[in-house]
Amino acid sequence: MPDLIIDGLSKRFGGIVALDGVSFEVHEGEIVGLIGPNGAGKTTVFNCISRFYDPDGGRIRFGGRDITHIPAHHVIQSGIARTFQQTHLFRSMTVAGNVETGRHSLPMDFHVPIPLLRRRQHHAEDATVRAADEIIEYLGLNDLRNYPAGALPFAIQKRVELARALAGSPRLLMLDEPASGLSHYELQGLAALIRNIRADLKITVLLVEHNMSLVMGISDRVTVLDFGRKIAQGTPQEVQNNPSVIEAYLGKTDANSN
Ligand code: ATP
Repeated sequence: MPDLIIDGLSKRFGGIVALDGVSFEVHEGEIVGLIGPNGAGKTTVFNCISRFYDPDGGRIRFGGRDITHIPAHHVIQSGIARTFQQTHLFRSMTVAGNVETGRHSLPMDFHVPIPLLRRRQHHAEDATVRAADEIIEYLGLNDLRNYPAGALPFAIQKRVELARALAGSPRLLMLDEPASGLSHYELQGLAALIRNIRADLKITVLLVEHNMSLVMGISDRVTVLDFGRKIAQGTPQEVQNNPSVIEAYLGKTDANSN
């Protein structure tokens, strides 16, 4: 049973067709790569799932529930978290403060008397700090927890953003170009980290990435977009050998064009 079902998703910006009936599925426990040349529509898929954009057509189902038009904070509550190509951190806030914000959109039951609500609020705040501390530790950010996030190198900021996404206890983590801006050495660590997150935290991963060695190395399956359409899907090996994919990346050669 697929956990995330993207069914006929469409999105237009004026005359630009960013997504044209895209369908694919992500099963629980998978790492799925979403690739394609620049402008193929990958980030638009993420933005439709996380409700930054309102799709013009199609459905998005997660965990058996239709989430196509629910409010953005309900998407987070339903168990989906994401990171961005360019980090979106609160730059003057500490690392710990940023990570704690990842829990703030989790639901609280407000249908209780005020004193009980206050007590629950205190418990919730304690739980927030504890959960953030665990994730900070897990991602090796302990020594930096009191530094302002904006003062840290880009690769560390990306890790802080990842920590913030994980702090919301997601079931599905959507990573938008996690490798961009990382050195060769940092890349090796990233591949292992994504695998560990899946294994240790039981989180499904949907990954948009241009770095082919990373995406082909860690994905169970890969979906390929080009000009807003799905042109291929399959195992990394199947996709790499698919003529449409080769053509989308390299363009038509004289030999195969008429
Ligand atoms: P890249 O790999 O370069 O990040 P992508 O595959 O993520 O590309 P998208 O960012 O989803 O591609 O963009 C798909 C198309 O939609 C592009 O033509 C882009 O210019 C257009 N587009 C995306 N967002 C908007 C927007 N907010 N307004 C207008 N056009 C947009």
